[in-house]
Amino acid sequence: MTGDRGRRVSRNGRRGTGDESGAARVTEWLIRGARPYGGEPTDLRLAGEVIAQVGPDLDGTGASVLDADGLVALPGLVDLHTHLREPGREDAETIESGTRAAALGGFTAVHAMANTDPVADVAGVVEQVWRLGQAAGYADVHPVGAVTVGLAGERLAELGAMADSTARVRIFSDDGHCVSDPVLMRRALEYVKAFGGVIAQHAQEPRLTAGAQMNEGVLSARLGLAGWPAVAEESIVARDCLLAAHVGSRLHVCHVSTAGSVEILRWAKSKGWGVTAEVTPHHLLLTDELAATYDPVFKVNPPLRTAEDVEALRDALADGTIDAVATDHAPHALEDKETEWDAAAFGMLGLETALAVVAEAMVGTGRLDWHGVADRMSVRPARIGGLSGHGRGLQPGAPANLVLVDPVARVVVDPASMASRSRNTPYAGRTLPARVSATFLRGRATVLDGKAT
Ligand SMILES: [Zn+2]
Repeated sequence: MTGDRGRRVSRNGRRGTGDESGAARVTEWLIRGARPYGGEPTDLRLAGEVIAQVGPDLDGTGASVLDADGLVALPGLVDLHTHLREPGREDAETIESGTRAAALGGFTAVHAMANTDPVADVAGVVEQVWRLGQAAGYADVHPVGAVTVGLAGERLAELGAMADSTARVRIFSDDGHCVSDPVLMRRALEYVKAFGGVIAQHAQEPRLTAGAQMNEGVLSARLGLAGWPAVAEESIVARDCLLAAHVGSRLHVCHVSTAGSVEILRWAKSKGWGVTAEVTPHHLLLTDELAATYDPVFKVNPPLRTAEDVEALRDALADGTIDAVATDHAPHALEDKETEWDAAAFGMLGLETALAVVAEAMVGTGRLDWHGVADRMSVRPARIGGLSGHGRGLQPGAPANLVLVDPVARVVVDPASMASRSRNTPYAGRTLPARVSATFLRGRATVLDGKAT
């Protein structure tokens, strides 16, 4: 790790013991000299669970003081697409390890995908996931409910019961699988209208991708790997935009990966339809050329695409056609990933590197400023997920969910130092900009000086 200046936490006044472990539990913080959204330096005072004051030279009496000179302050990040693997594959990730990774990445809320074992297709499972998130305490865990029973694509799961549960599910997805039956997709879109829900589609026509291993193109032919055509994604995106419009419901398109999907989304949004979309950090930075290494760490669903697709995705995120960045954090145990390409599982880690990759792909290229990053990684995902306590901005009275980022730090990605139980990051050894220095969840520090508390 380079460019990492140690941050001092000092204590003023009468409270507490002054030790670092105590600092994580105090209820008042004075963050000195942070730059909200990359703007002019100011102080932020956190009291209890809210931001109490924002302004220059605030009084730090009774608070722990955090020197944030040069750090950019953003609202806590919100992930729409996280695989936490619990219940069922706790060898790859747990809700505790996954949310610790999330906090280290600057996230204060994550949506946990339903493809666990058992599947999150009934109220009991989503309530269990929600409770385990509360117990871990690193980030709010909002379970995503399955659309169909067992993700089997045959009959609708108990969407209403999951919405009414203590987990208050609002996003439903069979992610990992596409709801390919148009009749089921129509019914799901109709059903969630009653409670303001949204269907998040993993857009992949299965009959066009049987056995597919990488993006279909010149390269797949040369490498002898079965191709995954862009049209397999685009045909479902187009169909579902039309269905959402027909029903008057809300569709969210997961991990958009092709220039053609962007064009369809741009058209659907121009009609005023209830369609939103996300892109992953890896689809903003990496291309299908990496498949030539035959290293399965680069095997992901949807596959890495061409440099032209990457350009179109960056443009779409910048102009708002794509609403949000979502990690698709997909931890896998070594034996599922370190094998030959054809046999390896699809997926990459994402939580701990998401902000750095967005900084590289979007801020470093001048496409987004820090306001834009906050909008695409906090404000809009919170709105899509219906999370009133997140994505609220950095003003007095807002919940104290925020992240402090060192924008000039450059960090070499080291898989061994990650909080995730898995090691399948595609950025190992790569130097990325921007380092998360601190994260606060409702006024409590979950990360200080780049370390989980
Ligand atoms: Zn997916």
